[in-house]
Amino acid sequence: MINKIKELEKSSKLLDPAQDQRDEWNSQVLNYANNFINQLDTAKAFCTSEENGKDICNLDIVEKATKLSTLLESTTKNIDEVGLNPASSGHMGYIPGGGLYPSALGDYIAAVSNRYAGIFFAAPGAVRLENMLLRWMCNIMGYPKNAAGNLTSGGSIANLVAIVTAREAHNLKARDFENSVIYLSEQVHHSVQKAIRIAGLSEAHLRYIPLDNKLRLSVNELEKTIIEDKENGLKPFFINASLGTTNTGAIDPIEPIAAIAKKYKLWFHVDAAYGGFFKLVSEMKRHFKGIENADSITLDPHKTLFLPFGTGAILIKNKEALFKVHHYLADYMQDTTDANEEISPADISPELTKHFRGMRLWLPLKLFGLKPFRAALEEKLHLARYFYDEVQKIEGFDVGPEPELSVAIFRYVPKNEEANIFNEKLVKAIQKDGRIFLSSTTINGIFWIRVAVVVFRTHLEQIELLLEILKEKVEKLTT
Ligand SMILES: *Cc1c(COP(=O)(O)O)cnc(C)c1O
Repeated sequence: MINKIKELEKSSKLLDPAQDQRDEWNSQVLNYANNFINQLDTAKAFCTSEENGKDICNLDIVEKATKLSTLLESTTKNIDEVGLNPASSGHMGYIPGGGLYPSALGDYIAAVSNRYAGIFFAAPGAVRLENMLLRWMCNIMGYPKNAAGNLTSGGSIANLVAIVTAREAHNLKARDFENSVIYLSEQVHHSVQKAIRIAGLSEAHLRYIPLDNKLRLSVNELEKTIIEDKENGLKPFFINASLGTTNTGAIDPIEPIAAIAKKYKLWFHVDAAYGGFFKLVSEMKRHFKGIENADSITLDPHKTLFLPFGTGAILIKNKEALFKVHHYLADYMQDTTDANEEISPADISPELTKHFRGMRLWLPLKLFGLKPFRAALEEKLHLARYFYDEVQKIEGFDVGPEPELSVAIFRYVPKNEEANIFNEKLVKAIQKDGRIFLSSTTINGIFWIRVAVVVFRTHLEQIELLLEILKEKVEKLTT
């Protein structure tokens, strides 16, 4: 048996490379990263090819080891050079973010040390770090000291945690679902509807409250509907407001909705996945009035704190409610439960073992300080407004509501063609060009093109380029 063990050890030790091997790999990866970042200036924001990354499948898993250089070459060709480039300054589709470089270092550190960040007993420092970041976010939103939060993989899971916590806090059982009512707007992010279904609440009534002309939820209609529902014996339960809709960046009126939620005892959730961190810009603070009265808030550092994908956050005012849903005891965890100074992420989220996400958030915030973040966010607001003003100066372009955040919608109204069809062609032409990536949406049957200025690398130069591209494509499509 000893011989067998020793023989296996020889092979298994390959999993723990010595420093010279690590140095060689590090330098190759560093080289790859530098090349990637250095070519961002000239790379396209969007690119498709015949192969579209197919060859990555030639590198399926086999017994034999493969050289890192082969893997990196294939990564460049088959992953980095096809599809959407979210790191690009030209990415202005959906809600982008960019991917700050120090976050990559944070992930590297978190992965090398592999701290068990789910439980205070195992990683008190890591848990303190994450809870400190969450307290910082709570503080930004005006939440009290005893609020709690969790770093999630993104905004969708944050919304799911919110709705499940609300369901339990209101003590809703299966038999109550068909009498419960959830209030939303047509502009709600679909992850909220998805969360409602995952949370088992499909049978609840979903009330889509009408919008005002700026595509914000109408407070009067909301109250009217709640009163009606109560009269009909239903149980109003949850209201979602968007602080920054994904479609247009419209901000639902937070303060009056909070007052209604309080009056009728509803759980008030603010989905601020896109807009939340704009609170760091002083001129935006007025839009956030009343957010401290929300029961839960979704934030998304991989959007407006520019992190690489993989970090969202949920803040819940009532820590006990969050704990009650997610806390579990297990025999094999018995030595982790001594009095702890900090709440463990595992006790307030669906995850047990988790990625140590705090490091990728903390490192850039500390290395840069807050100032450039505030500046970048304010810059993006101005860039969106600049675009909104300038595109109207080009003949034939029509715009949606004035942007409250950094998303603007616009379309071209052709003289002798159906506008929806034309704009679909226009967005395809922009995407095919690839220097700038834009996505589109449909609101009340009208096809709109969206500009979402969020990537930290996007500056005036890219907005000017976009305006040029628009003129160029319209001219091509109309002659
Ligand atoms: C992006 C977004 C979400 C979903 O967040 P993910 O991080 O993509 O899971 C939810 N709500 C709003 C308003 C968003 O913009």
